[in-house]
Amino acid sequence: MTYKIRPRRGFKLSSIISFVVILSVLVTIIISTIIGYNTERKSLFNNTIEMNGVAALNLSKTTESLVISMQKSLQVTADYFSEVELSDQNVLSQLDFFMGTSPYFNSLTIVNTSGVIVSTSPNNLNLIGSKPDSEATMEALKLKKPYISKPFHAITNRLIVLVTAPIFDHAGNYKGFVGGSIYLQQANIFRDILGVQASTTSGSYFYVVDSSGNLIYHPNKERISENVSDNPVVQKLMKGLAGAQRVINVQGQNFLAGFAPVPAAGWGIVSQTPQDHVVNISENVVREMMKFSAPFVLLLVLLSFWLSRKLAHPLNRLATYASRLSSGDEKLKPLTADISWNYEANQLMNTVAVAFNKLRQQKEELHAEANTDALTGLTNRRTMGAITTLWKEQGTPFSVILMDLDHFKSVNDRHGHHMGDEVLKFVADVMQSEKGPEDYCCRFGGEEFTMLLPHASEDEAVQVAERIRERIAHAITPIGERVTMSLGVATFPDISDEVFELFKYADQALYQAKRDGRNRTIAFSSLANMARI
Ligand code: GH3
Ligand code: MG
Ligand code: MG
Repeated sequence: MTYKIRPRRGFKLSSIISFVVILSVLVTIIISTIIGYNTERKSLFNNTIEMNGVAALNLSKTTESLVISMQKSLQVTADYFSEVELSDQNVLSQLDFFMGTSPYFNSLTIVNTSGVIVSTSPNNLNLIGSKPDSEATMEALKLKKPYISKPFHAITNRLIVLVTAPIFDHAGNYKGFVGGSIYLQQANIFRDILGVQASTTSGSYFYVVDSSGNLIYHPNKERISENVSDNPVVQKLMKGLAGAQRVINVQGQNFLAGFAPVPAAGWGIVSQTPQDHVVNISENVVREMMKFSAPFVLLLVLLSFWLSRKLAHPLNRLATYASRLSSGDEKLKPLTADISWNYEANQLMNTVAVAFNKLRQQKEELHAEANTDALTGLTNRRTMGAITTLWKEQGTPFSVILMDLDHFKSVNDRHGHHMGDEVLKFVADVMQSEKGPEDYCCRFGGEEFTMLLPHASEDEAVQVAERIRERIAHAITPIGERVTMSLGVATFPDISDEVFELFKYADQALYQAKRDGRNRTIAFSSLANMARI
């Protein structure tokens, strides 16, 4: 019963090694990139938040002193007018003088206790005599104290913040106030300090809110006066707190913000950077990192390919060799062990090479054993049959010599079976030494031998037979005695073109030799001739 092994295909070792190496390289890169990206982003976030905190604090100090200076300068102006008749013609030019020396306001106004504008600088809007009943004016008149308004639309329809200082005469009577206007949507003191750009290279900018959360300065002019009190940072500012944090503004955008209050005015300053900008920077850093490492990764991948092929090569050779061996490749040469720089591969290769070669040797030995006679080393009867059949198929003419030792039974009887065997070996050696390069010597069985001589005529075969017979007859054999043999010769296809018949005729010739007194050679043709005579 034979078992058929179904071949199972798998992945090549070199592919597996390459796959594992490339996978681990990629996973390492991905993990280190993610970690790098996160670390980079986190530190950028923290730095930016901190930076904005410091910036907001610095600006709040600047703005605080700006507001104090503004109020002081306004008070100086107000004090100047304490003893001046406000309806006087000179007031106009005197106000122009103060306007010219003050860098803080876009315009100056004097309002009397009735809420009527008595003077403005610059006086280009024809406002003198008008009565701006804005909430800010009412409040300033009611408070009779320094006052900073919320943003509001003035009589001129400008969006302004009004800063006022009360005018008292020496007797302490209230006369009205001097108001400094900051035009929020035009060039003003804030822009000089906080900058006009909506975003710098870092994407950062400042804005200012009043105590109610209204924007009084923002790089985007359109947003000025918008109420942003829902912004968590603005809510903290309204409570007078300073700090720095991530924040989502009222428009739903993420920012990294620092904030600080301006107590003198009840305002708050926010310095902030869009989170996207920082994310972009981190992404750029990662991109740069990847660009930098790309050639190394490529090199690593190529190296792993090369290495895996190199590692797998000896095993690959073994696998190919084993598959050729199992498919019975006749031209297979013995396996030579390569020297690889891999210790395990060398060990395996050496061991397998030894095993394979031993297997080969055993196979060859088995093959030889199956074809030869164990005692004499001559071709056995089975192989002889195969040879003669092949010659018959090929139409090769040949002669056969059949030999049988004379009275061999007696050799055995007198010297023992073992010594008999020695004589058989001796005869085989003589036959071997007399055969031509293409001839075959066979042990036919027992003490009978044959010789096959391709392309040999009967006469040539008889000559070989006689040479062997004479040598045996004259030799001293292992039993110390001479032995003789009888021989019969027949030729294919002259005598018969059937192999079994040819042997039968050779046997008849041999039998005749025995009958004729042994120790002789008889060709079957002469036997036939004799019969004819
Ligand atoms: P003949 O001249 O008529 O051939 O006489 P013979 O004694 O040789 O007779 P035969 O050929 O019939 O004898 C065969 C004998 O050969 C029988 C046996 O004792 C011996 N013999 C056969 N095979 C072997 C063998 O392998 N070894 C030994 N030692 N003897 C064998
Ligand atoms: Mg015999
Ligand atoms: Mg015999």
